[in-house]
Amino acid sequence: MSNSQATAIIDLDAIRHNFDQAKQRAPASKVMAVVKADAYGHGASKVAQALVGADAFGVARVSEAVKLRESGIGQPICLLEGVNDPEELNLASVYELQVVLHNWEQLELLATRGARRHAWVKVDTGMGRLGFSVEETPSVLQKLGHQGLLGLMTHLADAGDKRSTTTGHQIARITSLANSLDVPGSEVLSIANSGGVLALHNPPGDWVRPGLMLYGASPFDDLDPIPSLHAAMSFGAPVIAVRTIRQGESVGYGGIWTADKDSTIAVIAVGYADGYPREIAQGAPVLVNGVRYPLVGRVSMDMICVQLDDSYSKKAHSVKVGDRAILWGDDLPVEEIADKAGTIPYTLLCGVTARVNRRHRGNSRG
Ligand SMILES: *Cc1c(COP(=O)(O)O)cnc(C)c1O
Repeated sequence: MSNSQATAIIDLDAIRHNFDQAKQRAPASKVMAVVKADAYGHGASKVAQALVGADAFGVARVSEAVKLRESGIGQPICLLEGVNDPEELNLASVYELQVVLHNWEQLELLATRGARRHAWVKVDTGMGRLGFSVEETPSVLQKLGHQGLLGLMTHLADAGDKRSTTTGHQIARITSLANSLDVPGSEVLSIANSGGVLALHNPPGDWVRPGLMLYGASPFDDLDPIPSLHAAMSFGAPVIAVRTIRQGESVGYGGIWTADKDSTIAVIAVGYADGYPREIAQGAPVLVNGVRYPLVGRVSMDMICVQLDDSYSKKAHSVKVGDRAILWGDDLPVEEIADKAGTIPYTLLCGVTARVNRRHRGNSRG
């Protein structure tokens, strides 16, 4: 393996394991595996090819769906934000994409083009973002005509908080709406994201839409790793220098860290231009040869520094140029780093930039 640059190693077996966890938790539901944003930074084509058991895939952009089709994905692909102009509608037809309908303009677009796409009708039950109100949904269905109606979709606003009462209210709203309708297809419901799948026993709905959990990370605000999930990404970079810093000398931009004694510093070739955010606090753990060392000084564009002190491990002396440091992965949960950065795992995983090598391992099919 080229050791000279930041690399995200993606374990497809871990993703399949996590997918199976979703299936086990929602045995009565079909699974739309959400692979938007390049599968949260994991490489959407490779991930989708590995998930042969997925009943459908969900993406945010038409371009994402087109890439999946061009890499040979045959399962249904759903555009979670639907189509917003005639060109997108045309692509949806050509590539046989499911669309979500969430506003009247989209409904109009479909009507004027005479297009009959398979459509989910999105209902806003409390997210306050996309979707028709519960009250207007019956007239939407009437206008759509029930041909091609895949079902009703809603999105949970607060599934990351296990104690929130919002989730229960949202489920009640969509369920009672579905019960009040007498339109073929309207009884098919798609509700739960990862938070819903993980927090609810027997998550409601005929379809679940897990995203983050497939990649092994927790959607919950407490940022506790979930033991039954396997981290799919190991984000690492090489040590490119090991240096001695004298007592009183500083490291990095702004000199925010000063050595209180003679110290050894490893410089690692990863920075915010790779997706290791500048907001990550000093003291955040970085794993080198299995030992956690603290980040010192500011994260720069292409580099970070860690302190190799033998108070952390006797192995500190043996760290050398070329060793691979882990920024997050198996033994260093992305949740923990998200906490140090004041963010959530979603942004870290999606934020790994294009200059980082992605290497996939595990069976790509199967
Ligand atoms: C992103 C997304 C999901 C997946 O959410 P996770 O929290 O990552 O599981 C599900 N449904 C919709 C509509 C989405 O946009």
